[in-house]
Amino acid sequence: MKQITILGSTGSIGVNAIKVVTANPEYYQIKYLTAGQNADKLIKQAIALKPKAVAIADDSKALQIENTLRPYSIEVLAGKNGILEVASRSDVDLVVNAIVGSAGLEPSIRALNTGKDMALSNKESLVMAGEIINELLKKNQLKLFPIDSEHSAIWQCLVGENPANIRKLILTGSGGPFRSLPNDQFADITPEQALRHPTWNMGKKISIDSATLMNKGLEIIEAYWLFHVPPENIEIVIHPQSIIHSMVEFVDGSIKAQLGLPDMKLPIQYALSYPGRFPVSWEVTNFAKIGQLTFEAPDFKKFPALQLAFDALHRAGTAPAILNIVNEFAVYAFLENKLSFMDIPGLVDRALSQLTIVDHPTLQDILEAEQCGREFVEQHVRQHN
Ligand code: NDP
Repeated sequence: MKQITILGSTGSIGVNAIKVVTANPEYYQIKYLTAGQNADKLIKQAIALKPKAVAIADDSKALQIENTLRPYSIEVLAGKNGILEVASRSDVDLVVNAIVGSAGLEPSIRALNTGKDMALSNKESLVMAGEIINELLKKNQLKLFPIDSEHSAIWQCLVGENPANIRKLILTGSGGPFRSLPNDQFADITPEQALRHPTWNMGKKISIDSATLMNKGLEIIEAYWLFHVPPENIEIVIHPQSIIHSMVEFVDGSIKAQLGLPDMKLPIQYALSYPGRFPVSWEVTNFAKIGQLTFEAPDFKKFPALQLAFDALHRAGTAPAILNIVNEFAVYAFLENKLSFMDIPGLVDRALSQLTIVDHPTLQDILEAEQCGREFVEQHVRQHN
């Protein structure tokens, strides 16, 4: 029986991770759950799953949770330190990090420092601190299982293969809701339009990232740190049906792909069951129903986020952390109608050329870059509102 921590249990990935765990009660047990601010959902999950402890980042919600959970003898922790404390608990076998954004970075580092294997959905951790995370994995001899569907696909394609035989990684992407929108209409895109993803049902931040294609940009950097393939050997292809989740081309020209419906339960379950596989009761792929699989090249002009990600990866140091944090806070400002859609990549571009980039950063350097990036966005928002 694997004991599991789910960080970010109230989010889209967290809820799917709970579905996977509860569908396989003979293999998994939930020991810890955490949330950002959604106390009601965390309480419901806690009453249903009886974890040993829960934590909520918003400490103003702690009393409500403590009062409701008192009859169940579930420990309640709160604030950023409460999340970090849960991430460091060592009486588990695996930590699932499904927190959104830069808030997931320190919990990732804590869990790896505690010596725990991790199923990682929080791609922002790897984007910001790929070098540090790889050093920790090596030093503590730990495993990092990707949950992102593209990286899970590549991981599945690589089982039994010699990594030296990889010619390139082909990351697929749906193209988002604005794939066919003419360039001159991008200035008027609203948050409501951008949140409507054509194939995936996800949290707000990743939905906007998918609309700007910054999500694909973050995935390029994530793939680099997971599979150690040079950036020039990472290719993006637009595949609107989201059935092929990514591919690997080998030196002999052979290509392996992993396919499935756009449902995050599959990559989450694989990250938990690896190297095994468990049967599932939910809907699986029906090719006759899908009809066709199509492909096209990404439009780097319409979606500048892609090139920005390649540039940040080439520049290295804190450049990917700056890209990530400026994007994140620009996304939140866009959702509040304080920035336009195209301001998101625009601000990332400016930040990468204006902010100081530190090579081979420590965690402290990355946290400082995070602070600078956040202030950079806030200053721009103040000036334009
Ligand atoms: P959601 O917004 O749905 O959920 C985010 C989770 O993080 C929630 O539990 C939220 O709590 C918690 N959280 C938010 N802020 C904080 C904070 N400051 N401290 C601690 N916890 C916090 O996001 P998703 O589930 O969509 O995405 C999670 C991660 O997975 C992201 O990195 C995303 O890129 C990645 N991912 C998501 C996919 C998807 O299909 N959704 C696909 C592939 C990757 P609360 O609910 O209380 O706000």
